[in-house]
Amino acid sequence: MSQHNNLDFSTRAVHSGNEIDKETGAIRRPITMANSYALPYDPTDMNWSSADGNLYTRNGGANQKYLQEKLASLEGGEDCVVLASGVAALSGLFFSLLRTGDHVIFSSVTYIAVYRLLNELFNNKFKVKTTIVDTSDLEAVRAAVKSNTKLIHIETPGNPTLSVSDIEEIAKIAHENGALLSVDNTFASPYSQRPIELGADFVVESLTKYINGHGDAMGGAIIGKKEHLDIVRAQAQVNLGATISPFNAWLIMRGSVTLPLRMQRHNDNALKIALWLEKQPCVSFVAYPGLEGNNGHEIAKKQMINGFGGVLSFGLKADHDTHNRFVQNLSIITSAVSLGHDESLIVFLGENDERQYLYPEEFHNGFFRFSVGIEDVNDLIEDLSQAFQNTGLQ
Ligand SMILES: *Cc1c(COP(=O)(O)O)cnc(C)c1O
Repeated sequence: MSQHNNLDFSTRAVHSGNEIDKETGAIRRPITMANSYALPYDPTDMNWSSADGNLYTRNGGANQKYLQEKLASLEGGEDCVVLASGVAALSGLFFSLLRTGDHVIFSSVTYIAVYRLLNELFNNKFKVKTTIVDTSDLEAVRAAVKSNTKLIHIETPGNPTLSVSDIEEIAKIAHENGALLSVDNTFASPYSQRPIELGADFVVESLTKYINGHGDAMGGAIIGKKEHLDIVRAQAQVNLGATISPFNAWLIMRGSVTLPLRMQRHNDNALKIALWLEKQPCVSFVAYPGLEGNNGHEIAKKQMINGFGGVLSFGLKADHDTHNRFVQNLSIITSAVSLGHDESLIVFLGENDERQYLYPEEFHNGFFRFSVGIEDVNDLIEDLSQAFQNTGLQ
């Protein structure tokens, strides 16, 4: 794992986690679909819940381990656990770390499952106390800390408003108070942001998005210190059982080779489209941290590298149904959830979202979350433009 750490990110994206297969000489490590591995002569003293050696694929499989090696390297962390989805990584981390009576602070803008887990499930079932905070406001974070605060969980840029939180400063607040910081890095990917280098204790990634990048496999990862991740492996992976399939780990390994190339194109395309959308008379607002007028721009410039990610949100000066007609008129951009795929995806998030009260005013009339793909940017702008016209918006 450490042998590549002096190399550039792009070189590690190609080589980390891969080696020549000793048995066949193949220059790509193979897919190992077996559920079980051969036992030693006397297995009776084995710990059947161990995640250390090769025993049973739920306790850890070969392809999962190769991918863990690569992701630890790309995020600049000591260790990594890869699980079946981004949500498995989030819930696995929370389950392993939190006990009854602990307090958690989390961003008001997060992936929906984080809101559900921390706002409804962990507090109702396990009496974990939780506080929702606008973590783009450092004073609000400071004010929310209690003596039993165990974890601060932030997402930056946040899904779906793209709000930006200061990783370095929040890490300081957490550590001054004996708490840990986890950062959901899915929107930026390690190509554009490395939270561990900024002081975070954990990075969580939905591999389903940019790291796989091709919209054909699900996975999630937690990157951090070995002492913490050993607990995640023992408690969440082996006993909750959200293990990734070897085939999905292999697909994500393959997709991640081109992460730097794809991500640079996503970053470039999204900025160009955000600038173009801002100029359209029918557009009510554009939320993208790369825009100079964006509230999070200065902090994003400080902590993001190589660009500002491939997702933006925008609103239309139009009624509910006009939003749907606009989407119907798009021909290249696909209406679907998820993000970070090679193709552009758009989703209309209506005015009835239960978390509306946590979002800035401009989001209250409904808006689009737009995951800008790696297609030719002029074709994408042309698609948006013809759809505005054919919907009668301009
Ligand atoms: C999609 C997403 C997740 C969840 O990942 P899955 O792989 O869908 O389980 C978590 N966080 C963010 C920011 C996401 O966009």
